Amino acid sequence: MFRQRGGWNKTHGTAENTPRIDSFDPAISEGGGVLFVCADGINRLIDCDRYTDYGPTPEADREIVELWGKVWSQTLELSRKRNGFGGSQAFFLCPACGERRRYLYLSGGVFLCRKCAQVNYKSQQETRSDSMYFYHKGCDLVEKHLDTWPRVRPDGFSFCEWIPERPRYMHQTTYRRYLRRFAKYQEQHRRRQLKDMARLLRLFK
Ligand SMILES: [Zn+2]
Repeated sequence: MFRQRGGWNKTHGTAENTPRIDSFDPAISEGGGVLFVCADGINRLIDCDRYTDYGPTPEADREIVELWGKVWSQTLELSRKRNGFGGSQAFFLCPACGERRRYLYLSGGVFLCRKCAQVNYKSQQETRSDSMYFYHKGCDLVEKHLDTWPRVRPDGFSFCEWIPERPRYMHQTTYRRYLRRFAKYQEQHRRRQLKDMARLLRLFK
């Protein structure tokens, strides 16, 4: 009846099914070519230009790669790493965190490193219109602050009656503060369930 979205540890965007770009692709480091983006075995094309952004000193020069489609473009900076054979290998600098990465993943219209892209992917999926939104908010809170061993997790139905236990070393006042926040999500989830239920009943009239 209610949409269940897999287990507690279900990942939202996996590296395997998210389109990504590879800095070792010759189109990236040589430029002017086209780049293949593979998503579920499907190849897509993005135009790619490489140029050097000359700085005030040779050390300040930046190697820039510009990706562009019909109505979309993204500018990325490359960072070189010596490869031990007298040459160098180009890596992307993640536009969000600045880390040097070989792969960037498409997330919400931009390419980001795996870590940054997954975070974005998750928040994109979990919109308030999702019937399990408050359930997930509550579970995230428990995961972060009220995790106990053995691990106990309610499903979407028992969620509203569930009271997470106090972690062994947590102060009572801290615990109660988290419980109050958790209770808010329970209440919002309960209301959402009732609304969904009412909608279903109308369908069967
Ligand atoms: Zn990043």
